[in-house]
Amino acid sequence: MPQSVIILGGGIIGLSCAFEAALRGYEVSVVETGAFGGQASGAAAGMLAPYSENTDQPDAFFRLCLDSLRLYESWNGKVEELSGMKTDWVRCGSLNVYRHEADLLPLQSRIRWHNEWGARAELVKGEALRKLEPGLSHDIAAALYCPEESHIYAPSLVAALEIACRRLGGQLYGHAGHLLDLAFSQSSGVTVRMSLLPEINADRIVICSGAWSGALERWLGIAIPVHPIRGQICSYESMPDDLRHMVFSSQAYWVNKPIGRMVCGASEDVAGFDSSVTDRGIQRLIRASERWLPQLAGRDTAHRWAGLRPATMDGMPLIGSVDGKPGAIMAAGHYRNGILLSPATAMLVCDLLDGQAPADQLAAFSPGRFTA
Ligand SMILES: Cc1cc2nc3c(=O)[nH]c(=O)nc-3n(C[C@H](O)[C@H](O)[C@H](O)COP(=O)(O)OP(=O)(O)OC[C@H]3O[C@@H](n4cnc5c(N)ncnc54)[C@H](O)[C@@H]3O)c2cc1C
Repeated sequence: MPQSVIILGGGIIGLSCAFEAALRGYEVSVVETGAFGGQASGAAAGMLAPYSENTDQPDAFFRLCLDSLRLYESWNGKVEELSGMKTDWVRCGSLNVYRHEADLLPLQSRIRWHNEWGARAELVKGEALRKLEPGLSHDIAAALYCPEESHIYAPSLVAALEIACRRLGGQLYGHAGHLLDLAFSQSSGVTVRMSLLPEINADRIVICSGAWSGALERWLGIAIPVHPIRGQICSYESMPDDLRHMVFSSQAYWVNKPIGRMVCGASEDVAGFDSSVTDRGIQRLIRASERWLPQLAGRDTAHRWAGLRPATMDGMPLIGSVDGKPGAIMAAGHYRNGILLSPATAMLVCDLLDGQAPADQLAAFSPGRFTA
C-alpha cells in the first residue's frame, strides 16, 4: 500500500516536495493556510544564481545551491510537461558588476573556486563588457560573468507545480485557515487540524511553512529560529534587449523577464510579518536603477510588491527529520534562495521519505541544530 504524506505549506518548497513525492508514488495532501504560492514564492525574482549568491566559499550551502541549479533544466521540463504550462526558464548568464578597481582583487579567488567547481566564470572589462551588456552605466569598471546562471518566472512555476500536483492525484487544500493542532502517534501517524478544514491524517508530514515555521515549535519540540525578512521589489516595462543578462550590483539586482518586465529587487527589511510596500523601500531601488542602468532613469515602475523571506540564524535552511517526532520532516528557512533550492530540497525530502537520504549531505541542515 502506498504511504501517505501531508505537506504543510503550499509555497515553492511545499509544492516541489509534493510534486516529487507524487512522482515517487506517495499519496500526497498539501495543506495551505492561504493561496498556493501566495507568500514569498509568488513574490520572488526567480533568479537561479548559486555563484552570485555565494560569494565567500564553497560550503555545504553553496554545494546544495549548485546541485539544485544543475537539476533545474530537467526538473522544470517535467513540471512543464505535466502541467501543460510554460514557466519561462531562461539561461542567460549573469554579470556581477563593480565600479572600482579595488573591488576586483577579491574576485580573483572567487573566480578560482568557481572554476574549480566546474563553472565558467571570467572577468570582463571595458569594450568587451559594453558589447556583452550595452545598457550598463559606462563608469562600471568590470564584471564577473557567470554564463551558467539562469532565471525562471516564479509565479508561473508555482502555478505549474500546483496543476502538476493535482494531475498526479495530489489532494490540494488551499485557504485551510490556521493550524489548530498537530498530533503524532506511533500507531496512527500524523493528524493535522486546521481551522477551516476537516481533520486529516497521514503516515508522514513535511513542514514547509516558510517564514511561519517558528510557530511549529510547540508541536515539534525543537527550537525553530526562522524569522521573516521582508523583500520589497518592483518592475519596469521592458523590451527584450533592455538587458540580456541578470545583473547584480552592491545595491540591487535586475532581471529581464520574457513577459516584458524588468524586475529590480530587493530590500532586506526587518518588519515582522508586515508584507506591505513602502515608498522609501522602492525609491532606493529606483535610485539604484538610475545609477547602474541609466536607460531606466525617468521610467515609471509598472508594479511594486513584497514578500517575506524565511531566514535562519546561520543562513542555512532546515532540511531533515525531526528527532523525537516519528514521521516528521522539515524543509524550511530557504531565505533568499528558495526558488533555486526547490528541486534539490524536494529530492532530499523524498530521499528521506524513501529512507535513503545522504546523512553526510544533510548534516549541515539538521532541523535540530538550534536546540540546546
Ligand atoms: C522579494 C523577494 C525576492 C526573492 N528572489 C528570489 C530569487 O530570485 N531566487 C530565489 O531562489 N529565491 C528568491 N526569494 C526567496 C524565495 O522566495 C523563498 O526562499 C521561497 O519562496 C521560500 O519558499 P517557501 O515555500 O519556504 O515559503 P513561502 O512561499 O512563504 O510558503 C510558505 C507557505 O506556508 C504557508 N503556511 C504557513 N504556516 C502554515 C501552516 N501552519 N499551515 C499551512 N500552511 C502554512 C504560508 O501561507 C505560505 O504560503 C525571494 C524572496 C523575496 C521576498
